[in-house]
Amino acid sequence: MDIIYPGTFDPVTNGHFDIIERSSRLFKKVIVAVAASSGKQPMFSQTERVEMIRESIKPLSGVVVEAFSVLLIDYAKEKGIKNILRSLRVASDFEYELQLALMYRAQDRELETIFLMPNQKYIFLSSSMIREIARLGGDIKAFVPEYVYNEVLKKIGHYRDNVRRDRR
Ligand code: ADP
Repeated sequence: MDIIYPGTFDPVTNGHFDIIERSSRLFKKVIVAVAASSGKQPMFSQTERVEMIRESIKPLSGVVVEAFSVLLIDYAKEKGIKNILRSLRVASDFEYELQLALMYRAQDRELETIFLMPNQKYIFLSSSMIREIARLGGDIKAFVPEYVYNEVLKKIGHYRDNVRRDRR
């Protein structure tokens, strides 16, 4: 069975990788699908987000990383895949994820959303928290792979330079 793991991955964290590793043991092929998510005004471009996953991923059989910019249901149709992978961390994820899953099903009733829970050490970890901590000068080393860590620092450096320039 094949599955698509869609997300914004802005940036990818150790929690996402925990889910990717778990799913690679269960499914023949896992497509980590990086959404454009332009409405969310991501910190990293879609190309950068794909690159960060590709650079950090351990060799896992059957896992590929791709970018997509169409509706997820159209992307799934194009790939001929009927399963969507999402993850539930804390209870507050449930409502949003249920809405998403039912919305996908309303558009294509054969599409199933399958949920995996990460290791408990990742349940309070999110990309938005990583961005926020990094912007405020906190240490994110324990939460992301080394390549991502360096890319975030570079991005924050540019961000700080721009703020300084704007203030002048
Ligand atoms: P989206 O914008 O689609 O929610 P995210 O990149 O934030 O994209 O999340 C993609 C998926 O990964 C979601 O199902 C989310 O619950 C899951 N996820 C996010 N952070 C973690 C984490 N720390 N551990 C496990 N799963 C996570």
